[in-house]
Amino acid sequence: MSLPRKRESKRGHFMAVLGTPERPLRVAIVGSGPSGFYSAEALLKQDLNIKVDMFDKLPVPFGLVRYGVAPDHPKIKNVTKVFEKTASNPKFSFFGNVTVGKNISVFELNKFYDAVVFAYGAESDRQLGISGEDLVGSYTATEFVAWYNGHPDFQDHHFDFSHEVAVIVGNGNVAMDVARVLCKTPEELKNTDINQNALDVLSKSNIREVHVYGRRGPLQASFTAPEIKEMGELADCYPVIDPKEMELNEASLKELEDPANAGRKKNYEIMQSFLSIKPEGRKRKFFLHFDRSPVEIIGEGRVQRAKFEISRLTGEPNKQKVRGTGKFEEINCGIFFRSIGYIGIPIKGLPFSTQGGVVPNQAGRVMDFEQIFTGWYVAGWIKRGATGVIGTNKPDAEETVKSLLEDVEQLNPCEVPSSEELLKFLQEREVRIVSFDDWKKIDAAEIERGGKIGKPREKFSRVTGMLSAI
Ligand code: FAD
Ligand code: NAP
Repeated sequence: MSLPRKRESKRGHFMAVLGTPERPLRVAIVGSGPSGFYSAEALLKQDLNIKVDMFDKLPVPFGLVRYGVAPDHPKIKNVTKVFEKTASNPKFSFFGNVTVGKNISVFELNKFYDAVVFAYGAESDRQLGISGEDLVGSYTATEFVAWYNGHPDFQDHHFDFSHEVAVIVGNGNVAMDVARVLCKTPEELKNTDINQNALDVLSKSNIREVHVYGRRGPLQASFTAPEIKEMGELADCYPVIDPKEMELNEASLKELEDPANAGRKKNYEIMQSFLSIKPEGRKRKFFLHFDRSPVEIIGEGRVQRAKFEISRLTGEPNKQKVRGTGKFEEINCGIFFRSIGYIGIPIKGLPFSTQGGVVPNQAGRVMDFEQIFTGWYVAGWIKRGATGVIGTNKPDAEETVKSLLEDVEQLNPCEVPSSEELLKFLQEREVRIVSFDDWKKIDAAEIERGGKIGKPREKFSRVTGMLSAI
């Protein structure tokens, strides 16, 4: 990347040259999850003078790596070491506890930054749109996951595990996380970083059967092989599938042999192996049901039953559609989770597609009705929708940074190119900003708290607790 040349403004004044030793290119990143950190990494490795300030609404960094990834999958969280390396760059700052859209508007951010990368994830959840979804006992995977991971916004949620049967709708990896946490014994969870309150509540759970429902067949499930395999390896739980639901129609048999579907074929083989698994003294059961579309959650005042339409797949291989058969079945249950995907929410002032739950963009450049907003960019789940693992966000962020760097000469230099002034601005609004050094103190305190009870960390599940550790 060559240095941007000096530009003459339309009025004949010389404009600041961004990215030079005299005037760094100032970039704000909104969100400290994987896409935010991968964007920062891609910016900071350029041969340009770039200052990166990263904002997060929470006092703590790492987004879903901290509040989504399951507590019993600790190795995945090691990616934070890579993010810490980025954070140690002297041209990087973290400003936690700052909600963009509330503490500072998107337009106010532009006073202090030449470009803004919005990488604020997809925090909400999709709805089924069926009757009974609002009954007591009907929850979203989003809130359950955030609760057991100690997210401060979800600690007042109550989950009732007094019934023996739980239903989960959705066939993705999040559904597998939820099922696994419900099927594991307290022994299997106690040495993880699961929130202690959640562990205490789950330890008293009466759930003995977890039923996961997919609207398509076993070959169309979107979970991945290691995750489904794990469901056959639990201490006190064994998997159950009706062999009839493993039968494939002609189009699915063709899909099975398509090399592009190797991952799905692996899933199918693992599920086939479940058919011969014996209980061997294990008391809990994990059921997989396929070709079942949820139509109603039934109950007086609270969840008592869930109703599904039996469906079948029709159409060409890899393009099969779900068709109802007009036949229905019900299951008695006390708790119902929908796990059908996350969805983004808007930030005031920023273009937003309600249908897609994303900020409309072209290769990361924010756009609305064909108009490109030069200087505003998006990365990660808010850019492409809530799909993909942590690593997917790296090439995604690199594409966004490439677009930003191509635009450097078109960017409007900001009015106040100073992070000190930005901090003063936020302090005047009584925002208690948390730096990366502050986070390190919270981190150390959480590890110490965890160490006392045999866990890798015990998170502060309230913002006040986090701030008191600084
Ligand atoms: P996020 O990680 O959600 O980060 C967004 C950040 O923006 C958050 O820190 C949030 O606090 C902040 N933010 C939001 N709004 C604002 C605002 N207005 N102002 C300031 N900050 C804001 N992938 C794997 O590879 N392995 C796994 O095991 C795995 N497990 C997962 C489990 C669950 C339950 C989920 C939902 C996902 C999982 N993933 C996993 C996928 C992975 O977490 C995502 O691909 C990734 O986190 C998306 O990154 P992101 O940066 O776009 O969003
Ligand atoms: P997902 O993989 O998109 O799965 C969503 C599931 O919901 C699909 O099975 C989908 O079925 C189903 N669904 C959607 N609408 C439905 C409806 N109206 N009725 C019934 N079912 C419906 O999403 P996710 O599980 O939330 O995961 C998000 C991303 O995070 C994924 O990329 C995932 O791999 C990743 N993640 C990874 C891990 C890991 O690596 N361990 C863990 C968690 C999450 P259809 O396919 O028929 O639409």
